[in-house]
Amino acid sequence: MRVLIVEDEPAYVDALTVALEVEGIDTDAVGDGRDAIKVFRDGGYDVVLLDLMLPSVSGLDVLTAIRRDSSTPVIVVSAKDGESDVVAALELGADDYLTKPYSVRELIARIRAVGRRSGGTKSEEGSELVTLGNVSLDVGRYQLIVSGTTFDLPRKEFEVMSMLMERAGRVVTRDWLLEEVWGMDWGDTKSLDQHIRRLRRKLETHEAAPRILTIRGVGYRLEG
Ligand code: CA
Repeated sequence: MRVLIVEDEPAYVDALTVALEVEGIDTDAVGDGRDAIKVFRDGGYDVVLLDLMLPSVSGLDVLTAIRRDSSTPVIVVSAKDGESDVVAALELGADDYLTKPYSVRELIARIRAVGRRSGGTKSEEGSELVTLGNVSLDVGRYQLIVSGTTFDLPRKEFEVMSMLMERAGRVVTRDWLLEEVWGMDWGDTKSLDQHIRRLRRKLETHEAAPRILTIRGVGYRLEG
């Protein structure tokens, strides 16, 4: 695995480089936004770790440039008070975020999570199954299968679950879910809360099933 570290503070770069290399993860580091775009395009990275506060070109601009032609997972790093930047970054297509100061162990867990996408297979009857741990979603039948127990999902509930499964291990913002599933830009979020609650009840029927975590002020993350 190769990670591009975009960070202008040498202390962070040194610590990260050492910690990731110990884990067998190859790294390159750049401290400037403009260089980051160039180095990224030369390519072959599995994950980008992107500090939002950079000299010259901002992290959000770097992210925009990356997303123009790539879906490579990007984890953004923000300062403590940078919540609005984080939301902007997630809406621009960042996969996850960390707030400084963060632990290296947490970072490595996130890198592994975004690098590992849940795979698609076919069920016996040929409809598509998306699987995470002991939970599967039967795309043709709107069914959620939790460790062998099948639930028929109402359409919206199915769509919410499907969005979370496709992005398992990554943060999904509430705004994005509302827009994708309900297609609205007005603020009735109660319905989304209800759908999340119902999905949680189904997942909780099995102890080892993935859980939907609430990321306060931002959205949700499905953890397997
Ligand atoms: Ca910085």
